[in-house]
Amino acid sequence: MGLTGADAPAGAGADARGEHAGTVAAPLPAHRAPWEEQVLGDPRLLGDIAFAIGGPFHMMYPPRVVENIRGFQRVFTDTGVSGAVYYGKKANKSACVARACATADAGIDVSSTGELGAALRQGVRGVDLMVTGPEKSDELHWLAARHGCLIAVDSLGELKRLAALDIPVRILLRVLPAASASRFGMPADELDQAVTAAAEYPAISLHGFSFHLSGYDPIPRAELAVQLLDRLRAARAQGHPATTLSIGGGFGVDYVRAEHWSAFREQASRRWFHSGKAFASYYPYSFPAAGPAMLAAVLDHGDLARQLRQTGTTLAVEPGRALLDRAGSTVFRVQGHKTRHEHGQPYRVLTVDGSSLSLSEQWFDSEYLPDPVLWPTGPGTPTPTVVGAATCLESDMLSWRRIPLPRAGETGDLLIYPNTAGYQMDSNESPFHELPIPPKVVLSPAPGDRYRWALDHS
Ligand SMILES: *Cc1c(COP(=O)(O)O)cnc(C)c1O
Repeated sequence: MGLTGADAPAGAGADARGEHAGTVAAPLPAHRAPWEEQVLGDPRLLGDIAFAIGGPFHMMYPPRVVENIRGFQRVFTDTGVSGAVYYGKKANKSACVARACATADAGIDVSSTGELGAALRQGVRGVDLMVTGPEKSDELHWLAARHGCLIAVDSLGELKRLAALDIPVRILLRVLPAASASRFGMPADELDQAVTAAAEYPAISLHGFSFHLSGYDPIPRAELAVQLLDRLRAARAQGHPATTLSIGGGFGVDYVRAEHWSAFREQASRRWFHSGKAFASYYPYSFPAAGPAMLAAVLDHGDLARQLRQTGTTLAVEPGRALLDRAGSTVFRVQGHKTRHEHGQPYRVLTVDGSSLSLSEQWFDSEYLPDPVLWPTGPGTPTPTVVGAATCLESDMLSWRRIPLPRAGETGDLLIYPNTAGYQMDSNESPFHELPIPPKVVLSPAPGDRYRWALDHS
């Protein structure tokens, strides 16, 4: 369904047909969790928070993170596979997410001393931390070893440096998949050498292997896991306590309905975008077997689940984005608006009080596509709208796409970008232009069927 011909909204103009057809993008409304429905429906809450903060802010709802963790844990329980969930921490810095992991018995995958300290501060114990990253610093090795973390070793050189600390440590060896161009991990011959070397270092205890694949396909993950079971058996035969296989992250998130996504994919053109902007690729915003369902698909492929059970192997997963699904949104205030034309058709340019640095997809040669919500919600004239930042960079746009908002945005309205907790809100933020970094507001259920809010404390 496109917004041309009979489907054109009134705001696109009656002659958004024929030669002027197609300057307004198809809608991509995001799925909403119940907490978001209630927050958007509350006549006061969002306006009150915006007034108190006085600038853009992120909202987080940690109970949703707990639910997402439980979804993964349930797949392990249902399949009888021993499993461990480690939250890929780089996807969101909030203390409330680390706290949710601690309360839900999930571990955290960290890659810096900052992330390690932040996880410990929220009550995730050292034994529940996985430490990944290439050629980790001596300081990170030291802290990880002292706290009893599981360390994913990336190279032979790193193994040697870690062994030289002479502190007993549990390690995994990071695997470079065959035919992969990744800069991480070790190819087969180096893995052989590392397994042998590990046996010679008294402080090193080899607990297994890990990998992290790009893309979101369950099949290559299942296939590589099956191959690595042979390596695990061989390592055990060499006397290592090799019982763990980590298949990394990359569990997809379902942001929008499949029919909306296919309409976008079939019809999208430069004419939908401010200044004729074009993007080469997008995140797969419709992902029907998302998160835990994708883990189920991995386990279901071949007889991976049976082999894991038979060999007493623990399967570790490191989901980042998938644990944050529908756990947060980002709120901007409209500072002003102007009108531009494309093929004679008017559209609105809203300027909001923040920057696309709080919407990271915009910095990866792509666009964050789930439609923002204009608040307060209410009737009006549907209006094609693009969204710019309060900075002096031509390229600093939060939405290049002419989104069919249900009414014209006015100064003082709020614009809520949905489902931003996974990688969007805080991975690229900087005090560019000396604009303050948006604070995170944590919502919690309160008596009287409402929500209260507090600032995230890290
Ligand atoms: C980034 C990363 C993850 C998390 O990836 P998601 O796509 O957010 O699930 C997990 N493990 C490793 C090693 C990573 O680098």
